[in-house]
Amino acid sequence: MHSTMMDVPLSINHLLERAGRLFAGNEIVSRLPDKSLRRHSFGDFHRRARALASALKKMGMKKGDRVATLCWNHHAHLECYFGIPAAGGVMHTLNLRLSPDEIGWIAGDAQDRFLVVDDVLLPLYRQVAPLHKFEQVIVVPFSGAPVAPDFIDYERLLADADPDGFEYEPHAEDDPVAMCYTSGTTGRPKGVVYSHRSTVLHTLVASLGDFWGLRGTDVVLPVTPMFHANSWGIPYGAVMLGVKLVFPGPHLHPEDLLDLMQLEPPTLALGVPTIWMSLIQAFDASQDEGSPNQGRWTLPRGMRSLVGGAAVPEALIRAFDRHGIWILQGWGMTETSPVCTVSYPRAELRQATQDERYRRAAMAGVPVPLVDLRVRGDDGGDQPWDGSSVGEIQVRGPFITGSYHQVPVDPDKFTDDGWLRTGDVAAVDALGFVRITDRTKDLIKSGGEWISSVDLENAIMGHPAVAEAAVIAIPDLKWSERPLACVVLKPGQAATPEDFSAHLLKHGFAKWQLPDRYEFIDAVPRTSTGKFWKMKLRERFAGHR
Ligand code: ADP
Repeated sequence: MHSTMMDVPLSINHLLERAGRLFAGNEIVSRLPDKSLRRHSFGDFHRRARALASALKKMGMKKGDRVATLCWNHHAHLECYFGIPAAGGVMHTLNLRLSPDEIGWIAGDAQDRFLVVDDVLLPLYRQVAPLHKFEQVIVVPFSGAPVAPDFIDYERLLADADPDGFEYEPHAEDDPVAMCYTSGTTGRPKGVVYSHRSTVLHTLVASLGDFWGLRGTDVVLPVTPMFHANSWGIPYGAVMLGVKLVFPGPHLHPEDLLDLMQLEPPTLALGVPTIWMSLIQAFDASQDEGSPNQGRWTLPRGMRSLVGGAAVPEALIRAFDRHGIWILQGWGMTETSPVCTVSYPRAELRQATQDERYRRAAMAGVPVPLVDLRVRGDDGGDQPWDGSSVGEIQVRGPFITGSYHQVPVDPDKFTDDGWLRTGDVAAVDALGFVRITDRTKDLIKSGGEWISSVDLENAIMGHPAVAEAAVIAIPDLKWSERPLACVVLKPGQAATPEDFSAHLLKHGFAKWQLPDRYEFIDAVPRTSTGKFWKMKLRERFAGHR
């Protein structure tokens, strides 16, 4: 017997058409380099994305060709998200925080033909240009300055195109729409290629009530870059439901984000923990008597916030909750589209104490639908979901990559039975909450016992004097490795290693788990995606015994 259902391929073009038809009046707001706001409607977006698609076809873009973007978060980048695949191309988001060498290498590996670049990023493009030749360079006049004649002006290209006569490039649901490289903090960057099917399924799942809980009345502030794991997929979800988007453009400093929140109060904001930490610190400092920013900001009460990409300290969750903002934590990777688990308040937690809710919120969360998750111990067997048996997380599902661009077989990253090896170490409890204890490479092995750097740094960040903390393993002759804590104190605060030891003992750590050394530093170095860059700390402090 066969099902009687139609065989219509899943397609992000459907989302674009839906937005144009149903939500034409809804708004997309972008913050420009001069900090003014530009407003477009979803009707404009629909027409402009189709115009881009039509123009790309006219320029000779063929099905499957890569069109790279080097852009901040803004309306034109969103147009690329839909316009490039509409014409059959593959949008390749380049990470503007990487070095020109890395960008050039990645563009070469992806065989990018065309580039869409913000005018304010042309200095970076000029450093990349000798390393990879893009056939055509389309410049978004983001700052409003005229585009030099040796480039194609994005606005002129759209103005001269024919969006009404445009016809979508036919495609199968497995055809590619976008690609993104892993940030390479654990090796050479590798290309992950998303399909229509994976993108639509991920969008539907992540938008569900327990996760983003997207509604048409939402106002979404995506602080996560559109060049990193597709801003966690939120652009697709927002277009699917016509949700108002507020793009921060290049202005990601906490003061700028707080200013933007006053102008366009969001109901949902997405970002990595490091940015959220500086945001709450700037806000709390503004409450002090005599602060130059006193009275400048209020936080949007009731706003939901999805924070992920790195462990979210419980102290951060508590700090936001004091202002009526609940943080949902998500865990995922470029390879997983990325949302894999979300820590949301499950029905079973209704009777739980507030402390228990915070404890759960500080975990990576529960696997979302369509994601199979298992934890494999050192012996290769499945670990029980008992909350304490740790092992490597492995995942499988229709929006999880099964290989890398140009690397069809990678035994380090995939198991023989086809699961992705994430390199993250975790335990899962009976409710399905994943608690990540480390990345395999960050675990500290002391005298044959493992110490979780994530647990230590989260506890240290709960100390009132601490702004940030990262814990690394340093070589030790006797114990093989010992923890070293790098601590950034809040301005005007003081604390000693003895204070931290007392604090950690109070929080349930055993004596042998306490860091041997504390280094007080000005800031924890960040990766290109804004996460703590422990490799840099290891390089700096590796000599310490
Ligand atoms: P990279 O692997 O180069 O850092 P990704 O952005 O794909 O690039 O990062 C994925 C990794 O980020 C995960 O494997 C995990 O180590 C870390 N990560 C993501 N979300 C969380 C989280 N909620 N808690 C702890 N670690 C996280």
